[in-house]
Amino acid sequence: MNRRVATLMVHTSPLDQAGTGDAGGMNIYVCESAAQMAAQGIQVDIFTRRANNDYPDIVDLGNGVRVLHLNVGPVHGVTKEKLPALIPDLSAAFKAAMMCQGSYDIIHSHYWISGKVAMPVAKELGIPLAHTMHTMARVKNLALAEGETPEPMIRVQGESQVVAAADALIANTDAEAASLVSLYEACPDNVSVVSPGVNLEMFTTGAGKNIARKNLDLPLDALLVTFVGRIQPHKGPEVLIRAVAEMVSHSPALRSKLVTLIVGGASGANTSEVDRMKELVNWLGISDVVRFAPPAQRQELADYYRASDLVCVPSYSESFGLVALEAQACGTPVVASAVGGLRTAVADGISGVLVDGHDPRAWSSVIARLLQEPQRRILLSMGALEHASHFGWAATSRGTLDIYDRVLSINEAAKKSIG
Ligand code: UDP
Repeated sequence: MNRRVATLMVHTSPLDQAGTGDAGGMNIYVCESAAQMAAQGIQVDIFTRRANNDYPDIVDLGNGVRVLHLNVGPVHGVTKEKLPALIPDLSAAFKAAMMCQGSYDIIHSHYWISGKVAMPVAKELGIPLAHTMHTMARVKNLALAEGETPEPMIRVQGESQVVAAADALIANTDAEAASLVSLYEACPDNVSVVSPGVNLEMFTTGAGKNIARKNLDLPLDALLVTFVGRIQPHKGPEVLIRAVAEMVSHSPALRSKLVTLIVGGASGANTSEVDRMKELVNWLGISDVVRFAPPAQRQELADYYRASDLVCVPSYSESFGLVALEAQACGTPVVASAVGGLRTAVADGISGVLVDGHDPRAWSSVIARLLQEPQRRILLSMGALEHASHFGWAATSRGTLDIYDRVLSINEAAKKSIG
């Protein structure tokens, strides 16, 4: 019989638009992996908390993937910060929903809140639990942006409990695996590394840069530098904005051609950060150079990447950084912070450039030099395509299924030895 996987992500839905609110790389990760697993005959049910009334209780995405809504707490207004109070109710609803749908082989939870929800259910139903953190409080707190609020202790404690309870922890990179062991005392034998991927059919060079610019109504002769992601201090859009201000003051000749695009929406419930970034742009006197665009759907996003000369990812920490990979798959070199998963997502000097620290002057000098060296950008673009080509989601799903198999066989052996 085909395997059945109960995937749990309670604080955001796979049906949400990524790039705003609480939806980002994790949503894409869960949807793309589920689709690839389903293509290999696995049935994947993704359980999420109902946070709007637009959908029926069960949404069939086709090909063996379904989204099942847990009706817990008020539909609207439950922020990620308020969600931990609902964990016991979510566990009860998750268990009931799973039992209603027949038996599952494994539970895979995403992000610590879902891990906490899944822990008692896995234990009560005797099903192994695989968990992916996506981000970790201790890692974030070691690399906060200026003025950024640290992640709360309840999250650190919750993550520690999930680490201790999970049968398998799936990390995006060796760096994340090391953090799980060193910062959360994970048993190294329980930690496996599976690289996330990029949809290599959707993110391609397509019809090329000029057509992408035409589609987006962007000037063909512009030097286009783009940020894609939720507007939050941790992602560092301020670093790019300040770097652009530095750049136009040091290289005024760039100004007439430079266009900086910030694509994405407010992060979580924090809408004030978008306003703060817009005010910063005005205050720095670069509103002729910087434009803001609302969250983009996948096809349009691919055009943004293709249209760009450079995509910048100035994050303070990043468990992987899907944006970096997507941009490279479209043939666009990436300038990224030399932190966490971005060290894997970007091949320094080959598919882009990694920058140490977040000093806008350092960022400005790297970006300005690349903008002034079109030949180097062509080489980096070729390197970007080659680098991204190694990261398909099919490989992610194969790696994840291997971990499921290992956990299940250990579990079965343990059951036999008890029996
Ligand atoms: N994204 C999107 N539309 C946008 C901005 C972002 O679909 O306007 C997607 C983007 O394609 C990527 C994800 O959101 O897949 C962000 O993932 P990443 O790992 O870069 O950051 P995270 O959100 O996980 O911190």
